[in-house]
Amino acid sequence: MPEPYRRRRRRRRTAPGPAVPLLLGAVLLCLTAAVLWTLFRNRGPQAEDVPVPDYVEKDYLTVNPYSRPGEALDKIDGVVIHYVGNPGTTAHANRNYFESLSSGEEGTYASSHFVVGLDGEVIQCVPLTEIAYASNSRNEDTVSIEVCHPDETGEFSHVTYDRTVELTAWLCREFRLDPETDVIRHYDVTGKECPRYYVEHPEAWDTFRADVAAEMERQKEAEKNS
Ligand SMILES: [Zn+2]
Repeated sequence: MPEPYRRRRRRRRTAPGPAVPLLLGAVLLCLTAAVLWTLFRNRGPQAEDVPVPDYVEKDYLTVNPYSRPGEALDKIDGVVIHYVGNPGTTAHANRNYFESLSSGEEGTYASSHFVVGLDGEVIQCVPLTEIAYASNSRNEDTVSIEVCHPDETGEFSHVTYDRTVELTAWLCREFRLDPETDVIRHYDVTGKECPRYYVEHPEAWDTFRADVAAEMERQKEAEKNS
């Protein structure tokens, strides 16, 4: 195309001066674009930890290769529900188990963002800006919740169930997730029987997600009226 070719030649001949400022401008523009891209590419919070509900007790693990690698979460595309698999154990005991892995003696890699306890208490072990070691290939883009349970069936007690629904609904609202598609079981990632009761009873799992959707509406209403 002859027209732009001519224009380019003319500019090069008549104005060699602005080349340096132009180059600097281009570099600055690229840098600004890179910074903006880093800030806004994710739905998840990158720079700072989001404020969590009052019922959450923060008791972060120390940064270590086995349970809190300190790696940034790419983004938050889902919530993964687990059961602790150790009947009758408390949220504190499970949090401390994750902490104990930091010695490396067991060679086990495991953790979770949240643990919901037998009395509905919630401990946060890993900030929402970092990955936890809970959900295999989905560690990079999900938040994990480990849930305590009274017996081998893995069914959550009423108070624990309600709290897990409440926390999951809060996460869905905070990170604009759809409980229908974005709330999954560990089983949905790897086929592992986790959380056991909700793998063995798919209808209970459907109810759980429906309860999360209903709880999201309830929280929205409560916020409107407060
Ligand atoms: Zn699991």
